[in-house]
Amino acid sequence: MALTGIQIFKLLPKTNCKECGVPTCLAFAMNLASGKAELDSCPYVSDEAREKLAEASAPPIRPVKLGKGVRQTTTGGETVLYRHEKTFFNPTVLAATVASDIDAAALDSKLKVYNAFQYERVGLNLRPELLVVKDVGAGAAAFADTAKKIASESEFNLVLMTEDVDVMKAGVEAAGFKRPLIYAATEANVDAMGALAKENDLPVAVKADSVEALIPLTTKLTGMGIKDIVIDSGSREIKQALEDQVAIRRAALKAGNKALGFPTITFPCEMASNLDMETVISAMFVAKYGGIVVMSDFTTESLFPLLLERLNIFTDPQRPMTVTEGIFEIGNPDENSPVVVTTNFALTYFIVSGEIEASKVPCWLLIKDSEGLSVLTAWAAGKFGGDDVGMFVKKCGIMDKVKHTELIIPGYAAAIAGDVEEELPGWTITVGPREAAHLPAFLKSK
Ligand code: SF4
Repeated sequence: MALTGIQIFKLLPKTNCKECGVPTCLAFAMNLASGKAELDSCPYVSDEAREKLAEASAPPIRPVKLGKGVRQTTTGGETVLYRHEKTFFNPTVLAATVASDIDAAALDSKLKVYNAFQYERVGLNLRPELLVVKDVGAGAAAFADTAKKIASESEFNLVLMTEDVDVMKAGVEAAGFKRPLIYAATEANVDAMGALAKENDLPVAVKADSVEALIPLTTKLTGMGIKDIVIDSGSREIKQALEDQVAIRRAALKAGNKALGFPTITFPCEMASNLDMETVISAMFVAKYGGIVVMSDFTTESLFPLLLERLNIFTDPQRPMTVTEGIFEIGNPDENSPVVVTTNFALTYFIVSGEIEASKVPCWLLIKDSEGLSVLTAWAAGKFGGDDVGMFVKKCGIMDKVKHTELIIPGYAAAIAGDVEEELPGWTITVGPREAAHLPAFLKSK
């Protein structure tokens, strides 16, 4: 049961030392109660109080860590129904399915293709995280071999998918070192699957045939001391599956139903007969409220839009997306290549770098921190002034990379040209086009 701000306040040191970033312990308590602060921000909470508060301030949907290594990820941990209320925290995890009877050569080429699906956007590497090894009745040895090969020869983490406990044991033995998700504990095997998960400290997914039927299963597993649980309400009909997602999220957040306070796993691969339709259904679950989305396959035309949708849904709507300040090389620039400067609003970077790429003119793109504002707004807010831009050009290191002294500034910031010139004596400040779309012609004409 969540504690009120006053109840939390009673457990705090009450020294009003301000180290947590707010003026008083009471203000911190109120923020903690409303989910606006993290307990770790106060370094002086006693261990006893920390235990009580951690329980009370834990997100209503438990965050569950999946896998190990560079593609380790977390699902769940959400605190709101609607993204604009705060933010969604842990992006929907994308998975493709591999049958347990796949031969080694076919698996090798699949892994090679899947591994190549990595896309660089706004300084982030967008890629899928999971492969589901699906038991297709080829026996425990084939299941274990496939799981082991994926676990040891690829970065992908795993979902082991079988309801046969012996086959699951073989899979866990072969690939347990990569912390796979066990799928699934059902009414028929919950004791054995729960014991296997507990013994190996692995997350386990529960599958039932309705939202209500999940409750006794998760209650049983938590009673066994298992905390990392993922839930599947069992519906493979699109409308019902969506309703189940909403019902589970509402039950956890609004009714405080702990038995449903876990991330979900969804199966568009079992709801559609072709990958296009699977992609559309997956897009629905990325927005509402799939923790893991399992598709039959990854192809670039289905995966890329889903990764971009995911990037957009799981960013903080109250904070503009930014790119790190610095020098970006576009198209192998050399000492004679043009130097272009703009702001660090991610969309600005996206558009400007895209147009420079399209121009095929190698350039040095300088990204100046403008607190995520676009050019015109940053200029109006004093975050992209001539002095600042000039100082940034001096300290960013571009002068060691080029032997010319021309800087191209955005057309919308033409007013800063004089101030930049003053800050950079000897440099020619050229005003570029206002619209990024006109950059290719501008660069080619130079
Ligand atoms: Fe109070 Fe802790 Fe914040 Fe200090 S850091 S004001 S003790 S809540």
